[in-house]
Amino acid sequence: MSKILCVLYPDPVDGFPPRYPRDGVPTIDRYESGGTLPTPQHIDFRPGELLGCVSGSLGLGRFLETSGHTLVVTSDKEGPDSVFERELADAEVVISQPFWPAYLTADRLARAKKLRLAITAGIGSDHVDLDEAAARGVTVAEVTDSNCISVAEHAAMQILALVRNFLPSHEWITRGGWNIADCVSRAYDLEGMQVGIVGAGRIGLALMRRLKPFGVPLHYMQRHPLQPEVARELGAKFHPSVESLAEACDVISIHCPLHPGTLRMFNDELIGRMKRGSYIVNTARAEICDRDAVVRALEGGRLAGYAGDVWFPQPPPPDHPWRTMPHQAMTPHVSGTTLSAQARYAAGTREILECWFEGRPIREEYLIIDGGKLAGVGASSYTLATGARA
Ligand code: NDP
Repeated sequence: MSKILCVLYPDPVDGFPPRYPRDGVPTIDRYESGGTLPTPQHIDFRPGELLGCVSGSLGLGRFLETSGHTLVVTSDKEGPDSVFERELADAEVVISQPFWPAYLTADRLARAKKLRLAITAGIGSDHVDLDEAAARGVTVAEVTDSNCISVAEHAAMQILALVRNFLPSHEWITRGGWNIADCVSRAYDLEGMQVGIVGAGRIGLALMRRLKPFGVPLHYMQRHPLQPEVARELGAKFHPSVESLAEACDVISIHCPLHPGTLRMFNDELIGRMKRGSYIVNTARAEICDRDAVVRALEGGRLAGYAGDVWFPQPPPPDHPWRTMPHQAMTPHVSGTTLSAQARYAAGTREILECWFEGRPIREEYLIIDGGKLAGVGASSYTLATGARA
């Protein structure tokens, strides 16, 4: 029997919700990318319940405990005295969400002698040292596709929030004012702006499809151009370099994974090439942008706005400069953990566990590291620090 260590975000400060605004969540038949939804044999939760926090336990408690396994669920993840550090030594499986990541550093992996499987309940496994996991034979899997549309919708919202100066305008209302000139002195139409996407994968492409009806010219940059018919459908212009994209666009939304090739891609030099008054939205990973370069660009006016939901570390300290920098519309890391998304990635996590314990293969598209190397979706999304690809 195994020990499963599950790190989830804390419960709401006022306790678990007695009631939700809606009954259940809207159902979908398949993912927009064409992929199929998770297919666990059974689930022990009602879609629409809060599952991503400690009391929600991803709906796994009954399943794991009746199977004789030990489930430890905690949000206490930092420092040598944390529950996570204490319980890690004999855990076979670690489950963590990018929203409240249990960082599996090389050091921690070295101490996790029994660890065999690290599951990301969501998408993005950069909180795991993938080189070290590969070297130690730890399988890394995530629930590919589960929250792509959740993120694409959030990015579309944040683009509009920045360009239309939504949050400051809303604040004038809640403060009792009606200061129209104050609101509109930073407000523009998105119409006519050149919009660029870094990483036109599942999320980036979904965002482009949502932005096309706004009539904006679309641009994108990634290592491989899109299929010609998809690029034609979107009228999207391919840029072979991020510099060329930066110079052409008024708005850039970032949707590539964090790996050595994208770390601090948006630094002083690249942001300096953008037009004065550009906007960046980053719902991918914080470290794709140089933290202090973003602050400098907002203060100096090179950027008119920055938004996103990803930070480093997570949670960020109270004095993290992105909390107080000007012209930002940041949220905590919430885009991929709507109640709709939670139901999907909780079911996907259950599917992965059922496969693991029954000795059945985990779906190829869920794999990041397997058999000591990049595998499945990991092979196309990530590079290892050694430069090795699967
Ligand atoms: P996909 O793998 O479908 O797409 C990623 C895209 O990034 C690919 O098209 C890839 O294309 C491109 N890419 C990879 N490396 C580079 C590079 N060096 N420069 C430019 N483009 C690159 O992933 P998803 O769309 O599903 O997810 C993307 C990321 O979004 C995740 O890795 C995760 O970090 C983040 N995410 C955030 C969430 C949130 O809640 N905020 C939730 C879900 C995901 P190519 O290989 O051609 O370069």
